[in-house]
Amino acid sequence: MTTGVFFHEFFARYSWPIIGNRYERFPELLAKLEREVPGIRVIRPEPVLEGLLAKVHTPDYLERVKRAWYYEGARLTVGGFVKACEMVWKGELDNAVVFMVAAGHHAHRDYAWGGTYLSCIGPALVRLKELGLRRLAYLDTDAHHADGAREVLMGNRDVLHICFCHQDVVEDGGTKICVDVGWSTSDEAYMDKVRAVFPTVRAFGPEMIVHFLGHDTHKNDYGSLGLSRDFFIRLVEEVKALADELCDGKYVIVHGGGANRHVAEYIWPRIIRLLAGQGKA
Ligand SMILES: [Zn+2]
Ligand SMILES: [Zn+2]
Repeated sequence: MTTGVFFHEFFARYSWPIIGNRYERFPELLAKLEREVPGIRVIRPEPVLEGLLAKVHTPDYLERVKRAWYYEGARLTVGGFVKACEMVWKGELDNAVVFMVAAGHHAHRDYAWGGTYLSCIGPALVRLKELGLRRLAYLDTDAHHADGAREVLMGNRDVLHICFCHQDVVEDGGTKICVDVGWSTSDEAYMDKVRAVFPTVRAFGPEMIVHFLGHDTHKNDYGSLGLSRDFFIRLVEEVKALADELCDGKYVIVHGGGANRHVAEYIWPRIIRLLAGQGKA
């Protein structure tokens, strides 16, 4: 088993929009994990090529975002995400975790908000299709609706996008789904909602699963739905089992929202160990 962990020390140096300095201790945490667990490879991302961004974002928007102080971090994040998807798809890694600043699911083609200023899934999908991938399942368990990702993916029925948020929606021929998880829930009730979509994922037949995992849903984070920190590890355990069943374990997780560094420091080493085949939730 090889689990790729995409992280750049640059991420730990600043307080980023919305998520703050949640990665301050990650350089040492990840170095320790890499030393202790065979099969974990920490990979330092390169910035995404601007030509690839231009296939997703409009020229006007790219001109504006390039002037923002967080652009370099966003570009490294998307670069890491695209590389992680490529390597898992090609079998160079079994699975991967991608750490994220200033990029993610609120980035539309021509505007963005909520601390995420470049699309991750758009550029990755362009590359994956070039590499022959046909069917992708993209799960989003952040607290907020994935408006930007939804816009970017709309019309692309090769991608099953399931977003757990605060509305029940089925659109784009049944390939774009939102599941209302309520404003206050429990670990068990949320997990039941996730399990309830597994038959839909099975029927779709993805060749890879990508998971935008926010812990802003944690009871002490800014999008609280009342979830506990151990919930996130069990969630990954179940989605990983689904990826093992459906697509040779091809599973890429990207760190979504969440500013509580104690939650981040607790869950990610455990999730990475789990992906590397060490330990249960
Ligand atoms: Zn969120
Ligand atoms: Zn949604």
